[in-house]
Amino acid sequence: ARSNELMNMDTAKEILQRYYGYPDFREGQKKIVDSLLRGRDTLGIMPTGGGKSICYQIPALMHPGLTLVISPLISLMKDQVDALTTAGISAAYINSTLSGKEVNERIRAAKRGDLKLLYVAPERLELDWFREEMAGLDISIVAVDEAHCVSQWGHDFRTSYLAVAPFVDALPQRPIVAAFTATATPEVMEDMQRLLQLDQPQVFVTGLGRDNLEMSVLRGENKREFIMDYAASHAHQSGIIYAATRKDVDDLCQRLQAQGIAAGRYHAGMSDAERAESQEAFLYDDIRVIVATNAFGMGIDKSNVRYVIHYNMPKNMESYVQEAGRAGRDGEPSQCILLFSPQDIITQKFLIEQNPQDSERKHNEYRKLQQMIDYCYTTRCLRSAMLDYFGEAHDDKPCGTCSSCTDDRELIDITVDAQKIFSCIHRMRERFGVSTVAAVLKGSRAKKVLEYGFDRLPTYGVMSGRTEKEIAETINVLVSEGYLTLTEGQYPVVKLQSAAAEVLRGQKEVMQRVPKPSRTKAGQRS
Ligand code: ADP
Ligand code: ZN
Repeated sequence: ARSNELMNMDTAKEILQRYYGYPDFREGQKKIVDSLLRGRDTLGIMPTGGGKSICYQIPALMHPGLTLVISPLISLMKDQVDALTTAGISAAYINSTLSGKEVNERIRAAKRGDLKLLYVAPERLELDWFREEMAGLDISIVAVDEAHCVSQWGHDFRTSYLAVAPFVDALPQRPIVAAFTATATPEVMEDMQRLLQLDQPQVFVTGLGRDNLEMSVLRGENKREFIMDYAASHAHQSGIIYAATRKDVDDLCQRLQAQGIAAGRYHAGMSDAERAESQEAFLYDDIRVIVATNAFGMGIDKSNVRYVIHYNMPKNMESYVQEAGRAGRDGEPSQCILLFSPQDIITQKFLIEQNPQDSERKHNEYRKLQQMIDYCYTTRCLRSAMLDYFGEAHDDKPCGTCSSCTDDRELIDITVDAQKIFSCIHRMRERFGVSTVAAVLKGSRAKKVLEYGFDRLPTYGVMSGRTEKEIAETINVLVSEGYLTLTEGQYPVVKLQSAAAEVLRGQKEVMQRVPKPSRTKAGQRS
């Protein structure tokens, strides 16, 4: 009902050019803007840096009333409002850093119709007086940023996001509701629609697999050496190195600096002032590399980050894609490198176990972790694997740039090995973990193996030509390819899947890349 003939895409494009100076919308932005101009509830899934803000800011300028933006971070709010004000757009924020007088002034400005956009934190929607004030305004759009925070399945659930739906419901006239996030797993998508009570929303998933990003997973590297080599040979480029612990951040940063590399660090153990300083130095290219925990990055808008290296595997694909997606926002070729080691799995499981939470959430985190591990072991095109995970449509063509696609190692038939492994797991009654199965196949004299009498199994020692580590590696590949699964918990047990039965019956072949003869020098890969 609110849309009229003036609200068309030509006008939207003019506004884009006039206020923002961009010649055209990006792929993905156009559809979302159009949907909001038509007055439809909209769910926009875009990678970080994809340009979400414009998707609601331009409709905000075209609809008659106010656009209320729900934003989780106070620091982001200020940046956004500053940018809008500079562009000549009337916008303000209300948050806890303001005095009561300032808050009242801004609400009065909104009432006079002097504001097009008003940014607030979700907690504010829980305040009675605020809800009453808002009911007196003409609100055209409620735009919910980082909308995955409404879901317990997501990675940063915020209770106050649950206040959005009742807030919208209590308004005298229902506004258009637009929700935005970079997280697109099916459960989170369902939660966003249900918990934000979106009304027959149009859903747009775009651009998760930006094709300028060259994805790699490297296993078996000497991680520290790799990072030193890589940073040294890319010293003129900006990069982010994510590490899991503060200790590793400090250590890596120090080593880089000792090599004369302009490196800085960022983690929650530093003071606010130190962190702000690091961030600024990185933004203004005073340092080239920032070594950081995942505390770094929310709201970082640096377009020329040429590489993101993960020193450790993150806890799930959502976190990984969000962090890796900070590379190459300018569309230039950039590298996302994940340095995987099996120790990362142990660390992540430890973190899940340490965190007190109900069993359903724990179950969910284990499942997400397993999907992350599968990504690290897959021989498929990494981009396809990632897009499949997030449910984004894509063609079947491999990307040609990821570490699977560019892997020129020989693909060998490991069907016989797979049969030995499956048969051994079966004979061990599917009650043991990867390392015990590997030990039996190797023919180990370990106490546990002998105690259970596994040295009497026909599969004992049938892979004695291989190291236990190599056998375990193959088992993990078979897990990632879906032939096997691991149970949850700190001591996962390997179980057979139906695909394994087909292999045992000789109805299916299994392929694996053979290990590289020697390590490629970091500086030589490109
Ligand atoms: P997100 O909120 O999705 O992380 P932003 O809205 O901050 O992303 O946009 C990321 C960057 O892309 C910003 O620098 C923004 O100015 C730029 N940008 C957005 N839309 C366009 C466009 N149509 N053309 C060129 N640059 C754009
Ligand atoms: Zn690929």
